[in-house]
Amino acid sequence: MPRPPQDGGEATIRTTCPYCGVGCGVLASPDGRGGVAIKGDPDHPANRGRLCVKGAALGETLSTDGRLLSPRIAGAEASWDTALDLIATRFSGAIAQHGPDAVALYVSGQLLTEDYYVANKLMKGFIGSANIDTNSRLCMASSVAGHRRAFGSDTVPGQYEDLELADVVVLVGSNLAWCHPVLHQRLMAAKSARGTKVIVIDPRRTATCEGADLHLALAPGADGHLFNLLLCHLFDNGRLSADFAPHVTGIDVALAAARHSMPGDTGLSAANLERFLTLWAASEKVVTVYSQGINQSDTGTDKVNAILNCHLATGRIGKPGMGPFSVTGQPNAMGGREVGGLANMLACHLEIENPSHRAAVQGFWASPTMAERPGLKAVDMFRAVKEGRIKALWILHTNPAVTMPDAARVARAIRACDFVAVSDLWATTDTARLAHVQLPATGWGEKDGTVTNSERMISRQRAFLPAPGQARPDWWQVAQVARRMGFSGFDWAGPAEIFAEHAALSGVAGTLGSDFDISDLVDADYDGLAPVIWPQAAQKGGRFFGDGQFHTQGGRGRLVPVTARLPEALTPDHPFRLNTGRVRDQWHTMTRSGMTPRLSQHLAEPYLEIHPGDADRLGLAPATLAEVESPRGRAILRVMISDRVAPGHPFAPMHWTGETAPSGRVDVLVPGLVDAVSGQPASKSAPVSIRPFAARWYGFAVTTGDPRPDCAYWAKAPVAGGVQLELACHSLPDNWSTWATALFGGSAPTTTLSDPSRGLYRFAVVTEGRLRAALFVARDPVLLARGHLAGLIGTQGQGVLAGRPGSNQPDPGITICACLNVGQNTILDAVATKGLVSVDALGAALGAGTNCGSCRPELAALIARHHQRHREAAE
Ligand code: SF4
Repeated sequence: MPRPPQDGGEATIRTTCPYCGVGCGVLASPDGRGGVAIKGDPDHPANRGRLCVKGAALGETLSTDGRLLSPRIAGAEASWDTALDLIATRFSGAIAQHGPDAVALYVSGQLLTEDYYVANKLMKGFIGSANIDTNSRLCMASSVAGHRRAFGSDTVPGQYEDLELADVVVLVGSNLAWCHPVLHQRLMAAKSARGTKVIVIDPRRTATCEGADLHLALAPGADGHLFNLLLCHLFDNGRLSADFAPHVTGIDVALAAARHSMPGDTGLSAANLERFLTLWAASEKVVTVYSQGINQSDTGTDKVNAILNCHLATGRIGKPGMGPFSVTGQPNAMGGREVGGLANMLACHLEIENPSHRAAVQGFWASPTMAERPGLKAVDMFRAVKEGRIKALWILHTNPAVTMPDAARVARAIRACDFVAVSDLWATTDTARLAHVQLPATGWGEKDGTVTNSERMISRQRAFLPAPGQARPDWWQVAQVARRMGFSGFDWAGPAEIFAEHAALSGVAGTLGSDFDISDLVDADYDGLAPVIWPQAAQKGGRFFGDGQFHTQGGRGRLVPVTARLPEALTPDHPFRLNTGRVRDQWHTMTRSGMTPRLSQHLAEPYLEIHPGDADRLGLAPATLAEVESPRGRAILRVMISDRVAPGHPFAPMHWTGETAPSGRVDVLVPGLVDAVSGQPASKSAPVSIRPFAARWYGFAVTTGDPRPDCAYWAKAPVAGGVQLELACHSLPDNWSTWATALFGGSAPTTTLSDPSRGLYRFAVVTEGRLRAALFVARDPVLLARGHLAGLIGTQGQGVLAGRPGSNQPDPGITICACLNVGQNTILDAVATKGLVSVDALGAALGAGTNCGSCRPELAALIARHHQRHREAAE
């Protein structure tokens, strides 16, 4: 394979970050010894050199330790030929016996566009079923459905620069500061430069609120009502666009439906509601950014359309500095949409229900068959697996046993399926463990292809490391199986040829009226391809719909009547509504981000953020554990008491798995309730009950081993040289020394400190002059200097059982600035002693927040909280 273009030195490769939908450009410089220096690409338009902390730490996630390096069948090593033949045989057999809908592919927004294209081509054009769906169904399917209803196509109208050109930016259901940090930094820079007004609409006071002019703590689920009220306000105040009116339909019916929404539905004060309505109405240049808080709802599509209605009615769409903007979670959710990776799409944004679209794609592929109706969307797909209707399933680069709603049931369904293949980097994920065949896939840094970010920018991901062992790209795996099933048209030499075919097919789609036509790129220099927004700027300025041309029949945008409704009432048995989401420094199920100690020190275990009033009523003390139960499952989570969440609406992050915290998996609590239009699950509103977990003891350990402790609650995080573990249980072991020995992998403690009357036990193992492990047990949550203890691994371990450094070494506290390793205690001390009042002053004093900037909202919050407490104390 030819070497990719190089920059800034012989070994520097231009590629793209594999995490969020911002799609930042990355310069990767391998050192030839397995290490790779990572920098932001100053020439990539999405980030212009910036990276958030996750992107900056990518070089720490490239170890091949523990990788799946060869195919395995039933746990035993196998050749590629044997494994691929088996998959082809099992898929062909299931199809022959039960028909094409008896097989399914479940894929991922982590796939590259070329991987996605091949999987979609096999399933829809050759197997003849649309049973291919993607984990993007959990992320942005409601946006896709809303776009198609309003625009006649799944088109994101805007670009990132619109956030910088706008006078008002509304962030609704989007914790941009944590989930799309570089885009948030671009917005904050624009705000500093030109005074952009930023409004955050979120029931939770997230880090994004720190930089906002207005935070509207909306009643959970009331987004549809709010934007309905906005539509009415725009109409009543003469703000609808007369110029744009000929380009849209449905204003009257949308308004009639919107009139049913009442201000009281929003839970906002009259003053705040009025402020939002007047600010939005008075600002021609307004961008409404939305994300999972809108999409992950059983009325997600309606919420999307309620937003789109306001932009369509005012003509504030597709022009510089204005428009609705759905920001995707995954690096290539957009690429998956482009190739038709969703069960209800065809290819190149064509429609599966449209006979002429199907005929065009079938003709282009010269395929023997074509799926004629939408396939099973993710939740329905795993229901079909459970009911035995899917006989053969292939899961690529995703972990549905953790991330699907009703995750425990999904895991049982996968386990019981007749045949399951998994392609992944690891054989140890919760899902890979359930597979009959495990295929070693190439990962970031090893694979070549393209991704499309949230603003439709196609960028290259380029290999800069050799594939380890027998790992192979996903497109190759799927093409090999297709060929073994007897299909032709899967004989590409590499991703460049796949991309050219995809681009050529998009040209056919363009003749049918599809927005997605990148046929100009058919003959592009694939290896040297620079980031490009489609359609190319010369044609449309990179934006859609500003000219009033839509992809509906008749070419007019459609306002959709939205009868907004709030979530179902809660019951006495499950009186809380659990919100789920991401944390700043982790990504999905942490298979990559969880490898680096730096990223694990910000929030190192699963937690339940709960309002002080709720905690008080339930008898939950800070840092204890809560047992959270829904009709679907049960989780145990660390209690974090905070008024950032509303009473009755706790929050829990979604990242932990059977590998990292078996009791901390929150998707076992989430019901399989979906939006009727999009099929997207309502992941942010699970009804739950909460009670204190009756822990008889709490523990903390550091060890060079990798144990699975024998206790009801444990959570593992990497530290330099080993792991740290939070532990707790409702029963006491017979003998603490024996339990510690088992935890330490059979090494008996060499040092012990115990006070049974107080339930205190401390053990350490020092061998050959080096600390190998230490365990601290107490009746209450263990107060220790955790960072200090983690740093003692591999040292002589002097004073380890004291649990904290000497008085001359202050405990820095939990890490806030992961880049420069600055802890919360250090920050608060500097704020207090130096009288610091701004993030910049803090940066000058400690360096915190001066590298990637991801922590700046938290630094601002810490400073504000300190000074508020100081003022309160003085009054
Ligand atoms: S914002 Fe961070 S995670 Fe997202 S693409 Fe950029 S560097 Fe990667």
